[in-house]
Amino acid sequence: MTFVRWTAALLLVPAALPAADDANRQLAHDLFQQLIEIDTTDSVGSTTKAAEAMAKRLLDAGFPAADVKVLGPNDRRGNMVVRVHGTSTAQKPVLIICHLDVVEARRSDWTTDPFQFVEKDGYFYGRGTQDVKENDAALIANLIRLHSEGWKPNRDLIVALTADEEGGKSNGVDWLLKTHRNLIDAAYALNPDGGGVTSVKGKIVNVDIEASEKLYADYELTTTNPGGHSSLPVPDNAIYHLADALGKLEKYAFPLELNEVTRTYFERRAPLESAQMKDDMNAVLHIPPDPSAVMRLSSDPRYNALLRTTCIATRLNGGHANNALPQLAQANVNCRILPGHSPEEIRNVLAGLVNDPKVTIRFVSDAGAVSNNAPDKKAFPPLMPSPEILKPLERVAAEMWPGAPVIPEMETGASDSIYTMGAGIPSYGVSGMAIDQDDVRAHGKDERLRVSSFYDGVEFFYRYLKALLGNQ
Ligand SMILES: [Zn+2]
Repeated sequence: MTFVRWTAALLLVPAALPAADDANRQLAHDLFQQLIEIDTTDSVGSTTKAAEAMAKRLLDAGFPAADVKVLGPNDRRGNMVVRVHGTSTAQKPVLIICHLDVVEARRSDWTTDPFQFVEKDGYFYGRGTQDVKENDAALIANLIRLHSEGWKPNRDLIVALTADEEGGKSNGVDWLLKTHRNLIDAAYALNPDGGGVTSVKGKIVNVDIEASEKLYADYELTTTNPGGHSSLPVPDNAIYHLADALGKLEKYAFPLELNEVTRTYFERRAPLESAQMKDDMNAVLHIPPDPSAVMRLSSDPRYNALLRTTCIATRLNGGHANNALPQLAQANVNCRILPGHSPEEIRNVLAGLVNDPKVTIRFVSDAGAVSNNAPDKKAFPPLMPSPEILKPLERVAAEMWPGAPVIPEMETGASDSIYTMGAGIPSYGVSGMAIDQDDVRAHGKDERLRVSSFYDGVEFFYRYLKALLGNQ
């Protein structure tokens, strides 16, 4: 792989593209407000309303009706798909997916109403300001801006704003791939739900491009026992068996394993760190890695999750009466599996670790179905972005945030890219929205985005789309 080197010449090149004028900024602002104020939670919200609102904006701006579609499996879980026709069909389209739904938010937990778009203290507040309506707004604002400028991409560009990324039963990306593959089929996908710009107190540190994701898997550990009266206890106790099993899991760490993406991440992240952290990031790249550096780095949950597969107990359930010996004890163990390993492989590791015939370890699917064996399918191998994707990103990043390197990263959670990757469409997380690394509020209370970060993030996509899909 090759990366652009930062040269003085590169940094001195002035921004070649005009910054957004007031009308474009106002449009982005209004779209953002409109989206935040449409409740798209799973419980009572509707992504269809948000999808229709964005479709209307595009139609009002002159997009042909045939190219703008709102569709979904039911009337509350709609998706919006728009196709911008390119000047050539020689290459397969590029797809951008971005979810419309948001995590639940209670008014009583928040300082402001989560479904009101509030600007204060230099921030926009509201559910979805970080995850990820800021990018839904940015994408639609830029499609309208580019359309008004008469710009055409060099191949078809498809933008799909979708339902149920955060939960719910009607994941829009999955549904579109299964039922309308032609509508969104693409050479590769970009997903602003991953990647992004990392800042510290508003100062830009680096630009992340998500190039890999861990695989999510749940396991149910179960012990059963004939039980009996608790006045006549016996050593064979379902709760003790389960507790012993969880105790073994607590003390176990999966082996350290770096891949092309995480290795590059630490290589490029190290120079941005100071003192011990910098040394540790470099030391972990040595073969064999320095064990004390690995230990220190692993004490930070963010880095631990990059270094290995993790499995952690998340739920517990056992017994049926205070005066009865337990007949059943159960725990859920949630694993995040590194690329190259399958859920069945991890199930076998857990079984070997627990090593107790009284404890069964079964796989729990996303839909909640429990099975003796887990899928053999491995997490997708990490895919370093090709120069076609990376070079324009590095160019735009250098224009907008000189000196901030572009760093490939592995997502330790999971996003909708799991569906596009599963369908054979390589997928990368790209976003220009800067969030302070100590101000990540996605899914939390008082979610907010710095006002300047929003407008820069909107401008980023304008420049990146032109750089990526421009007719040179
Ligand atoms: Zn999200």
